[in-house]
Amino acid sequence: MPSAPLPLRDAALDLVLGGRCVGCERPGRALCPGCRSRLPTTAWPAWPEPTPVGLAPPWAAARYEGLVRAVLLAHKERHVAGLASPLAGLLALSVGAAAGPPRLLVPVPSRPGATRARGHDPLLAVVRRAARLVPDTAVAPLVRSRGGVRDQAGLGAAERAANQHHSMSCPSAGLRRLAGRSGHVVVCDDVLTTGATAREAQRALAASGIAVAAIATIAATPRRSRPV
Ligand SMILES: [Zn+2]
Repeated sequence: MPSAPLPLRDAALDLVLGGRCVGCERPGRALCPGCRSRLPTTAWPAWPEPTPVGLAPPWAAARYEGLVRAVLLAHKERHVAGLASPLAGLLALSVGAAAGPPRLLVPVPSRPGATRARGHDPLLAVVRRAARLVPDTAVAPLVRSRGGVRDQAGLGAAERAANQHHSMSCPSAGLRRLAGRSGHVVVCDDVLTTGATAREAQRALAASGIAVAAIATIAATPRRSRPV
């Protein structure tokens, strides 16, 4: 397949900024066409083990490892331009597989401190782009974090569940906008690990009378075997 010509503006920016591909470190785009062509092209049901009770069907387009992990981290932590588009493409695969139209995408909220520290909300940016790739799909950031939630990194399944328990809410203004809409509500997150974060967003929506049809994520951590 012939690749699209690199726009001159991108090339100039990359020369000035010294951009490198996060996959192969070749100078140029943040994700070169060769590495981009290695990204997954289908989504699959990515049930975590153990599965949080009542979790809506979760979907993922990639395993959280290797190239996809590098792209996600560079976008989230270093705000590397040019990576939102491939990540949105992956999330769109999950969204399309998770529910039929019309769809309403609800991103899980970032911890308020994390958004301030990074200066951007990487997930919301990707969800908005993904919605433009899937027909009849809108975005509504209906769920808010109450704050006081720790970074989940390094926590086990039980600790994550306790950390997330009742950490989110659904403000009434968003609900009013939602009122009268019909559609499949899909909770979106970047990485599915234990499912605790998605489950808490689902709980907050359900507490406001909104049923969640599915969970759509970019990547899921490789499945652990169920303890016997
Ligand atoms: Zn590359």
